[in-house]
Amino acid sequence: GSPAWALEQERFERGWAERLTVSAESRRAKPAVDPDAAAAFENEPDTDWTQARSRAALNAAIADWKPLPVAPLPTVEELLGTAAAAQPAWEAAGIEHRAKVLHAVARVMTADRFGTIATMRADARKSATEADPEVSEAIDFARYYADTFRVPAGVQANALGVVVVASPWNFPYAIPAGGVLAALAAGNAVVLKPAPETVQTAARLAQQLWDAGVPRDVFQFFPCPDGDVGKALLTDPRVGAIVLTGAWDTAKLFHSWRPRLRLYAETSGKNAMVITAQADRELAIKDLVKSAFGHAGQKCSAASLAILEAEVYDDPAFRRQLLDAAASLPVGPSTDPRSVITPVVKAPEGALKHALTTLDAGEEWLLEPKQVGDDPCLWSPGIKLGVRPGSAFHRAECFGPVLGLMRAASLAGAIDWQNAVDFGLTAGLHSLDPAEQAVWRDRVQAGNLYVNRPTTGAIVNRQPFGGWKKSSVGPGAKAGGPNYTFLFTRLSDSRETT
Ligand code: GLU
Repeated sequence: GSPAWALEQERFERGWAERLTVSAESRRAKPAVDPDAAAAFENEPDTDWTQARSRAALNAAIADWKPLPVAPLPTVEELLGTAAAAQPAWEAAGIEHRAKVLHAVARVMTADRFGTIATMRADARKSATEADPEVSEAIDFARYYADTFRVPAGVQANALGVVVVASPWNFPYAIPAGGVLAALAAGNAVVLKPAPETVQTAARLAQQLWDAGVPRDVFQFFPCPDGDVGKALLTDPRVGAIVLTGAWDTAKLFHSWRPRLRLYAETSGKNAMVITAQADRELAIKDLVKSAFGHAGQKCSAASLAILEAEVYDDPAFRRQLLDAAASLPVGPSTDPRSVITPVVKAPEGALKHALTTLDAGEEWLLEPKQVGDDPCLWSPGIKLGVRPGSAFHRAECFGPVLGLMRAASLAGAIDWQNAVDFGLTAGLHSLDPAEQAVWRDRVQAGNLYVNRPTTGAIVNRQPFGGWKKSSVGPGAKAGGPNYTFLFTRLSDSRETT
């Protein structure tokens, strides 16, 4: 029979089929996105830290940084009452108006880049080099959704009403920004409910949106604790959709509260990079280390497995170089600009604790992870050899600085193991052989496929981001891609009455 996740997925999708009202005609009316705008789109560059003035600007922002006071929370009734009342005017103002406001948001985000990084450093314990691309991505979301949300002639695209965005702590700025800006572009009012761990970063984002001219009632910041209030919010009929980045079980819980609510969820991954004998091995090591250990492995997109063709797995030079590369990463607090591996968000428990402290059958350490200093959250990177198919490490998401290596007899076998997990978010391949690339691309089950590049760091417009299998709930439109804003509309044929 089908695995449990497939049955659950089917239930979600059945709900979807019932809800979708896209007619044959509106499906034909392509492209929904303005092709000129997408072609002209330019990504915001990251900071060049080799420039002394960039480093000085960050230091000044760090010296200035203060937590923002968070306003007392309204009741759910007050919150939704004001949001729902403000929404029609925002929608009626039209996309040209909203696009102007979103471009103003991009300008405020650009001007406050270093303040945002200083906040993430304090709040999410992100290093500046990990926080910086989040700011670029958020700026990209603002401009991209503003420029590409265009409704084709003959199609009616109405906003849904109030959209709730429940955002995670691992990308505490770019992910909430993406959901909020897409829903705003499409004319909705939005409530942002951030992860409790990173309220300050979300508060900074909220302030930037208001400063740029997004009306306060249209965009509301609601850092409520997880639990009952969330249920009251999601079961209210004024809420037309929820965007969740979090655990599969949270998605299931939301679905159980209100089965017909549009639920767009990004839910974990167990991602592998395959490295064949035809790879540039040095490049593969560089990309693997970045994918496995960036932000201490706390990315849904992280590669926590490397499946190596036997010739690579058995190559002592490869092992030595990988070991050296990982062992040389500076481990320390996010307040030290030299740190590459910063603390994990909370002291390891569950699958991560097991992965960091236990060897299962066949496994041995190439590099044993160690807890460093007084901080129970600070761990040096670990690499396991001999991870077996079907083992805990092969299948469970760990979300921390530990990488497992598997030895595969062939590319075909490597792909089987890459696919033999419930998730399907990102997948990597290192091979310089176009024939191998083609086979892999055809067979691998993941939303984002990366060849000869890290598995993390999707770029807006170039690599729209989203998974399949147990990594995603919803109709499949990806964040940072041309169809995403349409998730926040009710599409139908035009409402001609004569
Ligand atoms: N979009 C991010 C990336 O490509 C990952 C987001 C996540 O962890 O949910 O690295």
